[in-house]
Formats: sequence, C-alpha cells, structure tokens
Amino acid sequence: MTRLELDGARFLSTGQLILLREISSLSASLNMPVFLVGGCVRDYFLKTPAKDLDIIVEGDAIRLGEALVEKFGGHLIAHSKFHTAIWELPETPGQATDSIDLITARTESYEHPGALPVVKPASIEDDLQRRDFTINAMAVRLDQDRFGELIDPFDGRLDLEKKRIRILHPRSFLDDPTRIFRAIRYECRYSFEIESGTLELINSESIGVISKISGERIRHELDLILEEVSSLAMIIRAGDLGVFKGIHSKLPLFNKEFVDLLEMDLTLDIPADRVAMGYMLWLLDLPEDAILSIGRRLDFSSELTHSVWAVAQLKKSLPFLVNSKPSIWTYALEKLPLLSIYVVFLVSGERALLNYISLWRHVKPFTTGDVLKSHGLPPGPRYAEILTSLKSAWLDGEVKSEKEEEELLQTLL
Ligand code: ATP
Repeated sequence: MTRLELDGARFLSTGQLILLREISSLSASLNMPVFLVGGCVRDYFLKTPAKDLDIIVEGDAIRLGEALVEKFGGHLIAHSKFHTAIWELPETPGQATDSIDLITARTESYEHPGALPVVKPASIEDDLQRRDFTINAMAVRLDQDRFGELIDPFDGRLDLEKKRIRILHPRSFLDDPTRIFRAIRYECRYSFEIESGTLELINSESIGVISKISGERIRHELDLILEEVSSLAMIIRAGDLGVFKGIHSKLPLFNKEFVDLLEMDLTLDIPADRVAMGYMLWLLDLPEDAILSIGRRLDFSSELTHSVWAVAQLKKSLPFLVNSKPSIWTYALEKLPLLSIYVVFLVSGERALLNYISLWRHVKPFTTGDVLKSHGLPPGPRYAEILTSLKSAWLDGEVKSEKEEEELLQTLL
C-alpha cells in the first residue's frame, strides 16, 4: 500500500495541511470517511503545489460541511440536488485556500449519450469510476490512522509516469463528450499523449454526440482551454481531431499564423481578457452571419459577440482606412471595443491602431461646452461640430498649444 507524504515539501501549505487534519478528525467523529481526490492527487505526483482541495465524503458532504461551519466558522453553500457543498473558510491572514469543495461519493448514470448524469450516493471506489481519466481517478485517504493511503484502481500513477491520458471505459466520451476537450487540455498542458485506444474513441460517433450537448457546457470547456498557457495549441489540436464538426458547421480551424499572438501587452491599459481574445483570433475571418450563428450556439454574451463582430468588421475595413489622418482613424474606432482594436493590431501590425489605443483616444480640446456657452453660442448642433473640429485639429497636428486652439476657436464661432 502506497502512503503519500502529504506534508512533504511544497505540495500542501501548512495551513492546508492543518485544515485537512481538522476535517479528518471531525469526519471521524461523524463516522464518515473522507478522501482527497481528483486534480490535487494528480498534482502531488506531478510535484505541483495543490491548487484546489476537493474532498470526497463517504456519507453526507452537506452534513460534514455544516459541522465544519459550526466548529470553525465560515459559510456553507450547499447543493442538495448534487449532495455537494462549498465551505467558504473564515478569513485568516495569509491563507492559501479560501474554499473547499465537499462532495458526497456518488455514482453517475446517463439516460442517453450526452445527457446530464443521474446521481446516487456511493462508495469512493464507485465515485472514482465516474471520472474522466485515470490520472484524475486517484484518491488519498484522510481518515486518521490511514492518512495518506493512495487509492488508484485504474493505474493513474503509472499513466502519469508514462505521460498518457486514458479514459476509464469505452463509453466514456459517449456519456460525456466534453471529456474530449478535457483530454486535449491535459495532453497539451502536460505534454502528454492521448493513449491510442482513447484516441480512437474520439471519432465520428463521439464527436456526433457533441452536437447534442448545450452550448453552455461546450463553451465552459473552451473557456477553460483558452485560459491555459498553451491554449492555441489545444484549439489547433481539437481542430485537427475534427472536433469542431460537433460544435458548429461553420467553426473554422484556428489560423496557425496567429498562434503566438495571445499575449496581452499589459502596459496598454486595456482590460485584459485572454478568453475573449482567443475567440476573436479564432473567428475574425468569418462573415457576420457565421459569427452571429456561432455566438448563439456557444451561448456567447452579447458583449462577446459584439467584440468578435467588431474585430471582423475592422479587419475588413482596414484597407479603406490605411493612410487616413489620425482624426479619421479616431472617429472610425471610437465606438469599437478597445480589445477588438488591439486584436486587429496584433494580426495586421497597423501602427495607427496602436497610436489610437495609446494616444489618440485620450486627445481632448481644452474648450468645453461650458466655454462655448460663455462665448454666448446658442444651444444647437454647432456645439458638437465646433468641439469635433477642435479635437480633429489637435489629432491632425493643426493646433499644438492652448493658444493655437483659442485662435482656431475664434474662427469657428
Ligand atoms: P484542473 O483544474 O487542473 O484542470 P481538476 O482535476 O481540478 O484539474 P476540475 O475541472 O476541477 O479539474 O475537476 C475536478 C475533478 O472532477 C477532475 O479531476 C475529474 O476527476 C472530475 N471531472 C471533472 N470533469 C469531469 C467530467 N466531465 N467527467 C468526469 N469527471 C470529471
């Protein structure tokens, strides 16, 4: 029996370890065995510090959560339908973990391919069987006298050593084809390989089931991919495996020329959004109707659809704007999302777009509406016309000082 050194250097912080010990002793008093499970056990073997702590309870996770809140404080968010709870820890200075997922060990069955699972309480072994890949189907006992014992029914540890992603049973992708995206994500993240038997099951049948699942579930997985460091390699791999057919007939392959572009220049004062940038780079050469239709399929927010649409429109109109005066650029760009403009800069290298982002968009004349009023200008459209002329003059270098602006204003009044 392998016993893990959970308190070994760097894996768990001291705070996390104390927490696990506390959970272990409280669950013993409730007679409910508890286990650490999923990604954090995988991360132990990969020698990466644990991020999230997922705890499986043989018994009732909500009851354990309530007892933890009673003893240590904090707040419990219970999902009785799924027999799970999130324990939001009481705040302590410098703590590494702010919440812990408590999950009742359960089996899942699927009424038809791609359906949401029907959940029933069960043992830890049953619970591991419902998981996606062998490397994620390991658990560590936390009961006091067996603290650290590894449960690894599918040889996940061996697969980690052999660097392979393997599903647990042949129907896995049919039950839940979002696992196809997860397989690609782990494969590229760790530079592993999807094992050959598993790879064969990413086929027209399982990809066909993707078309039956909701856009929200697919987008969740795509968002997780786009948050990863090697996200674009993952999108390219998914395209090469033919996965997009199950999402939308017009979803294109990712343009490999853009693969290094997903890094944001943080000096530019644009709210960074790696996920949105990923969709923009992916869809920017599509016609408007395809963007709208894919946005609907993937349940994009209207803001995201608008940003992607803006990238495509701006890219198409670049040839008409090239060599224009700064004022023309500025009025063409003013209504577009900044991130969309930045993405078009990345793919085109057009300096005017960068000038707009870093300089031109901040240009304002000294004169304001109040100043015009004080000159006795009657209310009406002349206000906007004059202010626009002054701003254009600054942008195009026709005035360079407050005094020159004042002189121009006199000619306009
Ligand atoms: P990471 O967050 O590093 O990608 P993780 O393992 O923490 O990895 P989560 O998405 O938080 O990933 O999932 C937690 C665990 O739940 C996984 O380790 C896996 O065992 C299980 N799991 C998640 N999604 C699925 C799924 N679609 N099918 C089966 N099991 C899943």
